[in-house]
Amino acid sequence: MAIVTFLGTTDEVSTCDCCGKTRLKSTVALSLNGGEAVYYGVVCAARAIGRSEKEVRAGARAADKAKALAKGEVERKAYHDAFVARQERWAAWLQANGTGRDSYEREASLGGYAPAWRAFLASDRAAA
Ligand SMILES: [Zn+2]
Repeated sequence: MAIVTFLGTTDEVSTCDCCGKTRLKSTVALSLNGGEAVYYGVVCAARAIGRSEKEVRAGARAADKAKALAKGEVERKAYHDAFVARQERWAAWLQANGTGRDSYEREASLGGYAPAWRAFLASDRAAA
C-alpha cells in the first residue's frame, strides 16, 4: 500500500485528479509515496488510500492545522523582529534628537515620553 502524506485541503483545485469530477467544493491534497501532490475528492481519496472518508477528512484537517500553526509562527517572528528593530530605531532617534545621559533624560528634553514617541513615529513613518 502507498505511503500517504496528507498535505491539506484546498478550494483552489476543484477537479478530482482521480476521476476527473469537476466543481468539487474542495479537494484533498495528498502525496503518495513521496510523489508530487495530487488533488482528490474525499471519496476518491478514501478509495485510493484504503481509508474511510472520515479518516481522510481528519488527516487533511490535521495538515491544514499544522500549516496554519507554521504560518502563525512565521508571522509572530516577523512581528517580533519588526518590534525589536523599531525599538532600536527609537533608541537611535532619541540619541540623535534628545539631549541627556540616558533615554529618560533624552525623552524629558523632548517634552516627555509621549511627545517624543509621537515625533519619533512621525519621522519613522516618513523614513519608511
Ligand atoms: Zn475522484
